[in-house]
Amino acid sequence: HLDRAVHARLMPAQPVNIPVPPVLRGAKKHDVTICGAGFAGSVLARQFAEVSGKRVLLVDKRNHIGGNAYDCLDEAGILIHRYGPHIFHTNSDEVFSWLGRFTEWRPYEHRVLARVGDKSVPMPINRTTLNALYGLDMQTEAEAEAFLARKAQPVRDIRTSRDVVVNAIGAELYETFFQGYTRKQWGLDPSQLDKSVTARVPTRTNTDDRYFTDRHQAMPKEGYTRMFERMLDHPGIDIALGTDFHDLDAADRGRQLVYTGPIDAYFGHRFGTLPYRSLRFRHETLDEARFQPVGVVNFPAEDVPYTRITEYKYLTGQTHARTSISYEYPSAEGDPYYPIPCPENQALFRRYDALAAAEPDVIFAGRLGSYRYYNMDQVVGQALAIHRRLTARQPAAGVLA
Ligand code: FAD
Ligand code: UDP
Repeated sequence: HLDRAVHARLMPAQPVNIPVPPVLRGAKKHDVTICGAGFAGSVLARQFAEVSGKRVLLVDKRNHIGGNAYDCLDEAGILIHRYGPHIFHTNSDEVFSWLGRFTEWRPYEHRVLARVGDKSVPMPINRTTLNALYGLDMQTEAEAEAFLARKAQPVRDIRTSRDVVVNAIGAELYETFFQGYTRKQWGLDPSQLDKSVTARVPTRTNTDDRYFTDRHQAMPKEGYTRMFERMLDHPGIDIALGTDFHDLDAADRGRQLVYTGPIDAYFGHRFGTLPYRSLRFRHETLDEARFQPVGVVNFPAEDVPYTRITEYKYLTGQTHARTSISYEYPSAEGDPYYPIPCPENQALFRRYDALAAAEPDVIFAGRLGSYRYYNMDQVVGQALAIHRRLTARQPAAGVLA
């Protein structure tokens, strides 16, 4: 059960604009200034403060910590993820145990169903999916493998998100599960996106219906925000919310900067804007204890405007007489959530990356700063590695002295 008192204060009834604290005013008090209190910025804040003994100023233009992983109680007292479902999974023992210093874990294996016509079938596609869709009764992996081999349409040079799926399972299953969803999610046809995007979702010949197969699959027991609160609770860390990094006076910035916002914004978009995909969330609370049979239901059909519905109680384990869900409507406008992996965008990113390389006192990190479609654990791993590299390079002097 969640502690209402803890979460009540995490959920301002109205967005609040927390004023820049006086500590910022030309104080030159901080060694390191970090833009963005998501995973990238918060992990680095903790490492700089705790391991390197630095005085850190962490700023975020939002009125809360946690970045896109932020969770809070809604008006019904149900813990929701304001920026869409965040399910933690990793194969990294280091990342899992590092975060474990700031939270207990609740084991959670995520399951997803895809709505196809009037059927709801497991996604990723597995033997159950194939049997349900084609009215078959395949009992073995060998049968399912042979079935998929007959469906597959080999592509010689696999480059795009269409190639990788059609090559593995053929055009029919590709169109049913991937084409519409991807067009909605990214505003692009899968043939315009790098193969890495749809390659995130495997196809299985067994009946494993878990979305992930990582060694560690668990949710922070009291939520992500509580985990971030503990991570940032260190005497060396000052936090300024409702504060845009770009509004800080030069004198307010430490010598070392960490930037986890969009890399093109740091450089004033001088080569043009780097595309990021956004989402609009429709959050609802229903007068029933359960809405759908699993945490997430995907809607691959192109004529349904949203991509998926999440029911948060599956993710959080909360018991409540009512239930809260969210619909995701992909959008070109809004907060930047996803870098869009394709060759043109990568080429533009490389131009910004070259500018970044010329600024050794600025570290660019995280999903937006690195323009990489990272999961949470990868962002944590990247942040730990960055700090480790800096420490190894300058053990006693310079930036980390
Ligand atoms: P962010 O969390 O985006 O944090 C960046 C912060 O910088 C933001 O808080 C922003 O306000 C702040 N900022 C930007 N510019 C400025 C500025 N100028 N001044 C001050 N502050 C600024 N990952 C998983 O592992 N599992 C999942 O299930 C999963 N689901 C996801 C679902 C959705 C809908 C989305 C969008 C992402 C999902 N992710 C998931 C990915 C996960 O959100 C990211 O990997 C992770 O949160 C990125 O952390 P970050 O610190 O790089 O960026
Ligand atoms: N995808 C799809 N159909 C699905 C699920 C995923 O076409 O039912 C594609 C889509 O392009 C999506 C990508 O695979 O963006 C990666 O899916 P994932 O679930 O990893 O996306 P995320 O949770 O990061 O939004």
